Amino acid sequence: MTDDLLARHRAVMPSWVATYYGDEAIELVAGSGRRVTDSAGRSYLDFFGGVLTTMLGHDIAEVREAVERQLATGMVHSSTLYLIRQQVELAEKIAGLSGIPDARVFFTTSGTEANEAALLFATNHRRSNQILAIRNSYHGRSFGAMAITGHRSWSASGLSPLSVSWLHSGDRLRGRLAGLSDADHIDAAVEDLREVLATTTAGDVAALIAEPIQGVGGFVHAPDGLFGALKKELDGHGILFIADEVQTGWGRTGDHFWGYQAHDVQPDLVTFAKGIGNGFALAGVVGRAELVNAVPATSFSTFGGNPISTAAGNAVLDYVLEHDLQHQAKTVGKILLDGLRAGAGDAGIVGEIRGRGLMLAVEFVRPGTTEPDPAATVRVVDECRRGGLLVGKGGLHGNVLRMGPALTLTEDEAREGLAILVDAIRRTDAAGS
Ligand code: PMP
Repeated sequence: MTDDLLARHRAVMPSWVATYYGDEAIELVAGSGRRVTDSAGRSYLDFFGGVLTTMLGHDIAEVREAVERQLATGMVHSSTLYLIRQQVELAEKIAGLSGIPDARVFFTTSGTEANEAALLFATNHRRSNQILAIRNSYHGRSFGAMAITGHRSWSASGLSPLSVSWLHSGDRLRGRLAGLSDADHIDAAVEDLREVLATTTAGDVAALIAEPIQGVGGFVHAPDGLFGALKKELDGHGILFIADEVQTGWGRTGDHFWGYQAHDVQPDLVTFAKGIGNGFALAGVVGRAELVNAVPATSFSTFGGNPISTAAGNAVLDYVLEHDLQHQAKTVGKILLDGLRAGAGDAGIVGEIRGRGLMLAVEFVRPGTTEPDPAATVRVVDECRRGGLLVGKGGLHGNVLRMGPALTLTEDEAREGLAILVDAIRRTDAAGS
């Protein structure tokens, strides 16, 4: 059945649409809590959550009921040309949580489109198409979002509509800033920014866009405080700071509600997506009124902030806050991180175990080196699936195993998944990749 579906998928989908597990691609047909079931009836513990998207888990009663209540009204869609009560309510909540005074919220249906909107606001306000972006970043698959994606394998067009200059990433394992102490790393990054501003831009840059923790790039994070230090430099030039919180928002990192808060900085624009809809297509931008209002023409989104997705979004956000899931992410994430370090930290293929809250990664290398080992990564990911655990893959070199389970993950589930993962790493290590 699944084989048949895979063949049909391959026959009709673009060749570049990736599916995990190659010839053993799976079809997920049901979900409950942190578990999903495939079409062959196999159950998995879900540590990837549809790429950090099912933030509360699967089939959460509060979300289902909110959506069902909306469906029962018969009003699935009314277009944002009409008032939508739950859209305004959600915007009020997000504006309040953003820390931005007099904030405005624009809803979209995807993170890509949210970043497009942020670029539109920043470039219009600054009357400049120059953007600073970070190497190894991922911001989406539209023309503009690909232009600011510093990750060769995900940037499908080199024909940029923007003038983009690249800053070094916060990668501490490899790259220009690797191996430095936190303070030296920050100094070097500020120096890098100064150099880029002085040499590769025309001096009227619109904005810097950055993920507080690079998601697709392999959960790479710079030292705390880095973006605050960069922002001080940017402020001197009037350059805006856009935080892409598509993966890091809503408490996922445990220590903070927004990823940028680890950096002692207030962004001018914040983009969000994924988790806020818990699977319903909901995303957007929150930012300073003067920037968001800078769009000189009437504009709206047909589906952005529609009645169904914002009914879900309110239920999701209320759940996150009422159940203090940020705290849960911190506690359960620590069990996973500590357990991984204790159980697999000494395996030869493990280059680094890192992460924050429930955004955790294992980087695989050739033993005794920092050379990436994508083959070992694939083996571990496959072993996990066979053991009943879904995890993700990422990183510029495809050598990072990524975990972003629902923030509702329990301690017992964390230990259960940990045992499968440690076993998969051990066996791959012993087999030699
Ligand atoms: N920004 C980041 C940081 C992301 O991780 C992603 C998706 N992986 C996007 C933007 C694009 O979001 P979407 O796939 O919803 O367009």
